[in-house]
Amino acid sequence: MHPSALTVRLPLGKKDVPIVAQSTETTDWVSRFADDVIEESERRAPGKPVVVASGLSPSGPIHLGNLREVMTPHLVADEIRRRGYQVRHLISWDDYDRYRKVPKGIAGVDEEAWAAHIGKPLTSVPAPEGSAYPNWAEHFKAAMIESLAELGVEFDGISQTEQYTSGAYREQILHAMKHRNDIDAVLAQYRTKKAPAKKSQKPVDEAELEAAEGSGAAGEDDGSAGSAGYFPYKPYCGNCEKDLTTVTSYADETTELSYTCNECGFAETVRLNEFNRGKLVWKVDWPMRWAYEGVIFEPSGVDHSSPGSSFQVGGQIVGIFGGKQPIGPMYAFVGISGMAKMSSSRGGVPTPADALQIMEPQLLRWLYARRRPNQSFKIAFDQEIQRLYDEWDKLDAKVADGSALPADIAAHSRAVRTASGELPRTPRPMPYRTLASVADITAGHEDQALRILSDLDPANPLGSLDEARPRYDKAVAWINTHVPADQRTIVRSEPDAELLKSLDETSQQSLRLLLDGLDSHWSLDGLTHLVYGVPKVQAGFPADATPKELPPEIKTAQRSFFALLYHLLVGRDTGPRLPTLLLAVGQERVRSLLGE
Ligand SMILES: [Zn+2]
Repeated sequence: MHPSALTVRLPLGKKDVPIVAQSTETTDWVSRFADDVIEESERRAPGKPVVVASGLSPSGPIHLGNLREVMTPHLVADEIRRRGYQVRHLISWDDYDRYRKVPKGIAGVDEEAWAAHIGKPLTSVPAPEGSAYPNWAEHFKAAMIESLAELGVEFDGISQTEQYTSGAYREQILHAMKHRNDIDAVLAQYRTKKAPAKKSQKPVDEAELEAAEGSGAAGEDDGSAGSAGYFPYKPYCGNCEKDLTTVTSYADETTELSYTCNECGFAETVRLNEFNRGKLVWKVDWPMRWAYEGVIFEPSGVDHSSPGSSFQVGGQIVGIFGGKQPIGPMYAFVGISGMAKMSSSRGGVPTPADALQIMEPQLLRWLYARRRPNQSFKIAFDQEIQRLYDEWDKLDAKVADGSALPADIAAHSRAVRTASGELPRTPRPMPYRTLASVADITAGHEDQALRILSDLDPANPLGSLDEARPRYDKAVAWINTHVPADQRTIVRSEPDAELLKSLDETSQQSLRLLLDGLDSHWSLDGLTHLVYGVPKVQAGFPADATPKELPPEIKTAQRSFFALLYHLLVGRDTGPRLPTLLLAVGQERVRSLLGE
């Protein structure tokens, strides 16, 4: 345990009472970072709001893997807010970065036509055809903003296009130009070193994630030294708008800068003290913004944290701007399971919106809250999501009855609420597994789904499907978009006459016992009891005998009985859990398919 977790730290000069500190015992990673960030903020900028930051590049669909860039500071910011401090969570939209390449498979984008825009700022590239947004960056930002709202992430978005083109950074740019030799000297220490080879050693999905990483990771450009010397600044061409320019001269006294464009041949001389169409190179841009905004906490992906990486180099450059490097933990990559096989309408890139289609925001928040940033984990789009939901429901129940451990309570609390309140939740959160089975079997028939879900617990039937929403809708979406056709359940339309005819005495008797009990056991619990009980009764034991009282052969008998039922109902060896399946099929049809 981190020592600070044991200390009760009273917020200096703050009157607000912590909302949850008393219930979480502040033992999780979020609390520990919050302790450090508050302390550092009090030291660097006493009395000012705490500033944490994330950076995202809207160069295409924003990959689900990049959500950690936002969730890590979000959770820390939220804990700090809960303690009554003012916090700004900045999301820097790196929309003034150059358009590097045309992502594949984006609807409304002709790859060749859009390739003509490579080198322009992302906000100068047209949006995909049919988009409601004015440009490429805005189009892809919008989807992310919508997901962040659903996730309860409160943030201040900062468009770098707006910052640069309004001249907000003028002083910083002139300062960087004046100190270009100091910057060059820092960068020179790393230019001689070989780039770390670790990228090629990563598994394929991580390499893909990395390719999709934002914040300029793809091109850790540190500027170039032409015959006129080194310049940490690049103008976008006044004619073709591309950044394929070379600074040919610069005069510190007048701030006159001349450049030529290697793409179109255009050349001009501008005054940097009034010129707003260019930007600092990435390795200088990032630390400049740490200083400009007073960022105290900004995590980064592993690719930013290696020797010579922008985070490390930035730590040396930020002093030139009179600032300090933020607390910057390295976060591990988040993998995706079960998405690779599925085609996606958005260039095969899983986005946070894709995850939120199949899981509630609480579950997604929980995945981030319960793992330290340096632990990697996977977001499940495959069958694993059902197990994950079981685990979540179990935790929810433990929290409700007071038996959960403090760290688990903390993670749960961070998942279900923020400092500004509870996230909307499903009024009747029925098991995801059950909802998915019902969605599978009913294939979109909501009246059937409602009937089955009401049969699960006849004493407390569902008034309308809305009570099970949005969780029900997420399960429907999962079944429809992520369960392959050959794993879908298709209930037989006709009884399997041949199989029924070939059954031996024992099998026939087992079906008889089941059919006789159907009426009196028609609920989830009742049918569970019944299907497990039939083989016990056949072997001469009471239906409610516990496993300890039974010989091991009963297990084998149960397995063959279940397989027989699956074959008769859905023509396969397995399927959704039998009680759910029976309820879904309906009593009349079950009777017919079992040969009554
Ligand atoms: Zn040009």
